[in-house]
Amino acid sequence: MNTLYIAEKPSLATAIAKYLGGFTKSKTAFEKGDTKVTWCYGHVFATVEPEEYDPKYHRWTISDLPIIPSNWILKPRADAKEQVKAIKEMLQWADVVIHAGDPDREGQLLVDEVLEYYDYKGTVKRILINATDNTSLKRAFDSIMENSQFKNLSQAGLGRSKMDWLLGMSGTRLYTLRYQHLGGKGKLNVGRVQTPTLALVVNREHEIVNFKEQKFFDIHATISVDNEQFKGKLVHEGYIVEQSEAEALMSACKAAGTATIKEWSVNDKKEAPPLPYSLDSLQGYMNKKAGWSPKKTLDITQKLYEMKYVSYPRSDCNYLPMGQYSDAHDILDAISRGSTLPNDFSSHANTSLQSKCFNDKKITAHHAIIPTCEAPSGLDADQQLLYDEIALRYILQWYPAMEFTETKYVFSVASEDFSGRSVFIRDKGFKALIGSNKEDEDTNDVSVAQKDVTATTGDSVSVSDVDYKEGVTKPPKRFTEGTLLTAMANIHRFVSDPEFKEKLKEIKGIGTPATRSTIIAGLIDNGFLSLDGKSLRPTALGEELVKHIPSIITAPDMTAKMELSLMDVEKGTTSLNAVMSEYESFLKGLVESETAIFAQPPKIEGVECPVCHEGVLILKKGSKGPFWGCSAYAQNGCKAVFSDANGKPAIYECPDCHKGFLKQRKGSKGTFWGCSNYPDCKCTKEDAKGKPKL
Ligand SMILES: [Zn+2]
Ligand SMILES: [Zn+2]
Repeated sequence: MNTLYIAEKPSLATAIAKYLGGFTKSKTAFEKGDTKVTWCYGHVFATVEPEEYDPKYHRWTISDLPIIPSNWILKPRADAKEQVKAIKEMLQWADVVIHAGDPDREGQLLVDEVLEYYDYKGTVKRILINATDNTSLKRAFDSIMENSQFKNLSQAGLGRSKMDWLLGMSGTRLYTLRYQHLGGKGKLNVGRVQTPTLALVVNREHEIVNFKEQKFFDIHATISVDNEQFKGKLVHEGYIVEQSEAEALMSACKAAGTATIKEWSVNDKKEAPPLPYSLDSLQGYMNKKAGWSPKKTLDITQKLYEMKYVSYPRSDCNYLPMGQYSDAHDILDAISRGSTLPNDFSSHANTSLQSKCFNDKKITAHHAIIPTCEAPSGLDADQQLLYDEIALRYILQWYPAMEFTETKYVFSVASEDFSGRSVFIRDKGFKALIGSNKEDEDTNDVSVAQKDVTATTGDSVSVSDVDYKEGVTKPPKRFTEGTLLTAMANIHRFVSDPEFKEKLKEIKGIGTPATRSTIIAGLIDNGFLSLDGKSLRPTALGEELVKHIPSIITAPDMTAKMELSLMDVEKGTTSLNAVMSEYESFLKGLVESETAIFAQPPKIEGVECPVCHEGVLILKKGSKGPFWGCSAYAQNGCKAVFSDANGKPAIYECPDCHKGFLKQRKGSKGTFWGCSNYPDCKCTKEDAKGKPKL
C-alpha cells in the first residue's frame, strides 16, 4: 500500500523521515519502499486578484462592489510550482495520505487545500505533531486519526482566508474610491485585522494628546499594630489639589496621634504559578524583558522547534494534555542539562504536584509551548535566553503556589478614613524562583508584614507616621509591539458593549498566533506605525487612514464578532456557509451605506464647471485629443466640454455680462461665438482659428 506523508514544511518532513528511518532524499520527497514523505512550504496555494475573476475589475468602480466570487480560484504560488506539481504526481500514486500539516487551523487548511485542489479520493489520515523529539513523535504516530475529524478546523481556516480577501479587496476599493471622491489623494489599504489593530494605536495616541495632567496630593498614615506597620491611604472624594489642604490634613492627623480600627479582614490566599507560555504570552514577555519584536520571538521559537528543543510555536494554548504529565522527569532532566538556569531549579521540582495546566478539556490540536525531552546544546545567546525562559515557565508548574495572608483594613484618624492592604507571605512557593514583580508592588501600595496580626474593630492603635506625596495623573501608555500583540490577543478589553465583551473572552483575540506579529511588522514596514524606542506611534499616513475609514471597520467589534463565528464553525455549531453569507450581507451593507456620498459630485480641486457649478473640470482623453469635461457628469449629467489650452480648460468669460462664457456655435454664416447666457445676453464674437476674436 502506497503511503504518502504531506508535511507542512521541509523541516517537518525531514524530522518524520529521520524518525521512521532508512529514507533517501530526492528533490521533492523522502522515499523508502512504498512510503514517501513530501512537504509543502506553508500555504502553497494563493488566492488571486479580482481581475483574474473578471478583467472588468481592472477598473475600480463603486457599482462593482462588493466583489464576491461565486467560485473561489486558487493557484499555486510561483515559488512552489515545482513542488505542487510533484505532489500532484505523488497523489496519483498514493493509496493513503497522512496529513502532517502543523497542528492548527492554518496547518489543517493548507494540506486539505492540496488534497481538494487535486480531488484526491483515497484514504486520508491525520497526524498531529506537537514537537519533533522522539518522545513526541512516537506519541503522535501512536495516535494517528481520521482526517475527516478535522473538517471543521479546516473550514474555519477557509472562512478566515475568504473574509480577509473579501474585506481586503472590496474594503480597499470602496474606501479608496470614497476618499478620492471626497478630494483625497492616494490609496487606503483596508485589512480585516490590520485596520482595527492600527486604530488601537491611533486611538491611544489621541487619548495621550488630549490628556490633561492633574496635580494631586496623596496622604498616607501608618499605624502600628503588634509591632507591625500598616500603611493606609486617605479615602477622599476626588483629588486633593491644594497643597495647603494636604498640609492641614496631615497636621490634624499627626496631632491626633491615635487611630481607630474600622475594618480588619484577614484572608488566606494562594497564587498559582503562571501557566506555560502560548505564543502571544511569550512574545509579550520577551518584548518587555528583552525588547524583542514579536516576530523575533516567533522566529527564534520556530528555530528551537526545528532543532527539537521546544514544542510547536504558533500556539494559542496555555495548557498541556494529561498524557504528557509523566514526561516531567525527562523534560526536567533535559532542562538541567541544556539550560543555564541554576541546577537546583530542576532538581527541587516536585513531579508529584499537579499544576492546573494539565487539562485535556483545554487542548485542541496543539498545546502550550514547553521544552521537549531533548537537551539542547550549541545554542546561540538569543536561543539560549529564549529556551531558558520557556524552560523556567515549565519548571514553575512543578512548584507549589505562593501562600500568603492578605489583610484589608480601614482605620480612622482625626475623623478621616484611611484604607490599605497588607500581605504576609507564609510560603513563597514558585515565587522563590522568579522573585516578585517590583512594578506591580509600587503601584499597589501594599504593606508587607512579617507575621499574621489580628486586630478588632474599635481597637485604638497608635499612629506611627503621616505624610503626603505630590503626584501627577499620567496619560495611558503608548503601545509597544508586545502590548499591542497582547491587546490583539485580548481584544474583549477594547469592546464597549458589556454583553459582547463577556462573550469575546471565549475567543482568543483577533488574528492568530501565526499572523499577529506579521501584521504588526507589516504596519511598521508599510509606514503606518513607527517605533520610538520601544513605543509605537502612528505616522501621518496611519492617522489619515484611520480618519477616513468608518468606525465599523476601524473598531474591533466586527472582526471580533466574526472570530467568534469562526470558532463556532470550528466547534461545528454553525456552518461556514451561514457565516459567509452573514459576512457578505455585511459587505453589501457597507457599500450601500456609502451610496449617498457617491450620489454627490466628487470633491476635486480644480476649475469649477461654469455650466452646472457642481462639478469641476477634469482633463480627459478623447479620440481627437485631450479635452476638459465636468466631474459631475455621473451625478447630474452635465455635458460641459471645453477644449484644452496648454493644460488648462479654454473658458472665455463673456465681455458683456461677465456671467456667462462664450461658446463656439455654428450659424448660417459659419462658426461664431455666443454667450452661454443667451437669450438674456446676446453677445456674439467672430471666430478666429477656433478662438473668439475679443
Ligand atoms: Zn458641469
Ligand atoms: Zn454674456
